[in-house]
Amino acid sequence: MSEPDWLTVHPWQQPTWQNWQRQLPQVGHAYLLAGQAGTGLSGLAHRMMQSLLCQASDGSAPCEQCAGCHALAQQTHPDALFLQPPEDKTVIPIDAVRAFSDKVYTTSHQGGRKVGLIAPAEALSESAFNALLKTLEEPPPGTILILLTHAPSRLPATLISRCRLWTVPMPTRKEALDWLGQACPQADDPLLKKALLVNWGAPLEAQRWIDEKGFEFEAQWQSDLKALQQNQQTVTQRVEAWLKQSEPQRVLDYFYLWTLQRIRGACYQQKWPLDPNWFAFQKAVLQAREYWHSNVNQALLLEALTHEWLAHLTPGYVPHEALKGRLIRGQAI
Ligand SMILES: [Zn+2]
Repeated sequence: MSEPDWLTVHPWQQPTWQNWQRQLPQVGHAYLLAGQAGTGLSGLAHRMMQSLLCQASDGSAPCEQCAGCHALAQQTHPDALFLQPPEDKTVIPIDAVRAFSDKVYTTSHQGGRKVGLIAPAEALSESAFNALLKTLEEPPPGTILILLTHAPSRLPATLISRCRLWTVPMPTRKEALDWLGQACPQADDPLLKKALLVNWGAPLEAQRWIDEKGFEFEAQWQSDLKALQQNQQTVTQRVEAWLKQSEPQRVLDYFYLWTLQRIRGACYQQKWPLDPNWFAFQKAVLQAREYWHSNVNQALLLEALTHEWLAHLTPGYVPHEALKGRLIRGQAI
């Protein structure tokens, strides 16, 4: 039986995986895996679960043959427990934590270990965090909890201190490009490079972006900016259209990529003089990304950035209120 993709340990995760295998004989009771989204953290975590539930393992890699390995690969292992946001939700509610903890404290079905995966940990609501703390502190013997996070800075210190924190490195640019080239053989080199840039160096996200034709939205966004420069459209009209896309926050990635290209073109290729305002604009884009998932008025936020982008083209441009924060937070002035 071949192992499913979601159990894959990627090449850039090998050092972490080898560390994991080395310390398996003295396994702890709670681990926090931290790493960037889109780099395959979930595959590594599932593989770790499999190594804990393998019945034939000698303490190294899972055998992939025994009943335990098969059941995990088929998602039917009764002692593999999962705590994640309900479908179509982004938050893990307290009720889900209670149901999870009940299962943790029930005797294992196979008489062996029980392994829980909590992903992503930053999705736990505040009350859910508190409800989980006791389970994290004193899980029953033979129980191992693996928490996964893409945003460790958003986790309370009380949670981090109860886990062994493992930071999983990003792939190097070469590792990411090699992997992406194999995953998307139909894509040419410039598209692979752009996909990685737009996706912050995360190869699995870049693959999804190519597969879902994210480049079509990017091309649309570029032609929208041209139309705006020529006054053929209003910012409100364009932002309305962007918000109808399945991932409107991509506009922020595209603006960010634009600033990178302007700054690199000036600093490394002397294509044009460096404009310090690009740094201010870039900072605003990064702030907007931070605020996007909190309760902002997304239309206002995108309009503010787009107006700012248009304004920077005019001579004597001075960064506007938008770059001082309030509009970027989606608040009307
Ligand atoms: Zn096995």
